[in-house]
Amino acid sequence: MSQADAVPVLVGEGWLTPEVEGYTPVHRPATGEVIGRTPHCGGAEVDLAVEAASRAFPAWSSTPAPERARVLFRYRELLEAQAEVLAEIVCRENGKTREEARGDVRRGLEVVELACGIGQLAKGEVLPELAAGIDGSATREPVGVCAGITPFNFPAMVPMWMYPLAIACGNCFILKPSEKVPLTANRLAELFLEAGLPPGVLNVVHGGREVVEALCLHPGIAALSFVGSSPVARRVYEWAGQTGKRCQAAGGAKNVLLVMPDAVEAGLLGEAAAADPALNGVLHSAFGCAGQRCMAGSLLMGLGDACDGLRDQMASAMDTLTVGDTLTEDVDMGPVIDGAARQRLAGRIAGAADADLAVVRDGREGVPEGGFFVGPTLLDGVEPGHGLFTEELFGPVLGLMRPRSLEEAIDWINRIPYGNAATIFTGDGGAARAFTRGVECGMIGVNVGVPAPMALFSFSGWDQSFFGDLHVQGTEGVLFYTRQKTVLSRWP
Ligand code: NAD
Repeated sequence: MSQADAVPVLVGEGWLTPEVEGYTPVHRPATGEVIGRTPHCGGAEVDLAVEAASRAFPAWSSTPAPERARVLFRYRELLEAQAEVLAEIVCRENGKTREEARGDVRRGLEVVELACGIGQLAKGEVLPELAAGIDGSATREPVGVCAGITPFNFPAMVPMWMYPLAIACGNCFILKPSEKVPLTANRLAELFLEAGLPPGVLNVVHGGREVVEALCLHPGIAALSFVGSSPVARRVYEWAGQTGKRCQAAGGAKNVLLVMPDAVEAGLLGEAAAADPALNGVLHSAFGCAGQRCMAGSLLMGLGDACDGLRDQMASAMDTLTVGDTLTEDVDMGPVIDGAARQRLAGRIAGAADADLAVVRDGREGVPEGGFFVGPTLLDGVEPGHGLFTEELFGPVLGLMRPRSLEEAIDWINRIPYGNAATIFTGDGGAARAFTRGVECGMIGVNVGVPAPMALFSFSGWDQSFFGDLHVQGTEGVLFYTRQKTVLSRWP
């Protein structure tokens, strides 16, 4: 494919270029160069994909679980062999550093590894003599055609939260990746076909709002997985409800990092600060993937007087972070996804200065020209009433807050409408326990800056961070992609 070609869709037997009216340019965020065009699919392409998936469903759902698993084992090997190629595509279209892109692929691959054990995961239960002469059993059956809609920030991992488990469970799947990063998803699908997945079991359509609405409302789709911002997650959940689909819709976040005074004293402010686990944990959480992670720490809390030292130490550590083109340079941080994101973030930094927040480090300054760069930013003086307390900025901007006590910190965290993640850095087990018990978030870190559960646990956001019941991946993922059938048998 030449660089600005239309990105093909995968429907049934093969790849095709749909005839559509509109396209979204796919950028290389580090340079702004256009490297592809994402077609705006709509109802017509969704109809074709649902037909292909429905045709494939009877054979795939009745394929024995060990045979399905064998395809997944082959897929796993191909992903492993192609991991560097995939990471390069992620780097190119998303802008992550090499290491971050490798992590993106690795976390997804781990879900494929989980799905390889589908025989064990989807086993049912039997109780002989449930009643006199009657045996009872409960089995998990695939739900049918499933669809997944994903965001730009993890082009490999988030799609792989969904389709490998869904397909392992015997379903057929339609993936709709973010229009900003369609190339990784297409390569992931190509590899699955190479592994021997029958045609129609996995389909890929592209586009934005129109194709999402068509997927959500299509009566032939039984289950919908969504990951993206909260307003869209809520809308998708409502649409799915209108047509009686089961739906898991993960949304945005505003995650807090609380550094207790003992963690500050234990090294955060000391000579060895650069090697300090708490400091590195905060830096990695706030500025890894240029802050474009639903698990990114975006509010940093320090108690009382310790907060001044925390701020100074953070500011000097941030000065050491290098920003640049992650494909061609060995840098700590890449660009944000597009010009609109850069502009939005610059506006928020300007607005913070106007609202009397101290701009301790200004990410609008000292960044490379040409691409969509915003440097690490630290804003001091955020209060619970401030817009930045609740708005998800989704970029490398960290707000500093000064609660007076652990109790006040927990109270503030619980006022944030999102319920995604929060971390405490401390050596005090009592404080850690109070935090773990008291904070109303689905994912808690104790001395772990990015407490993202890996494939074996479900990704468990709460409140405005999740609409639905069963979360993606882990055991809940298997339950989501299967439905229970009970059989009571009496034989003469
Ligand atoms: P987004 O909501 O803009 O887009 C997500 C998906 O929805 C894309 O496929 C997009 O095409 C589609 N979409 C966008 N606007 C739509 C509309 N009006 N109607 C229907 N569909 C629409 O999100 P994004 O900018 O791609 O990703 C960043 C967001 O995703 C952040 O809010 C981040 O916190 C969230 N996220 C959450 C998790 C999680 O597990 N909770 C993980 C990763 C990202």
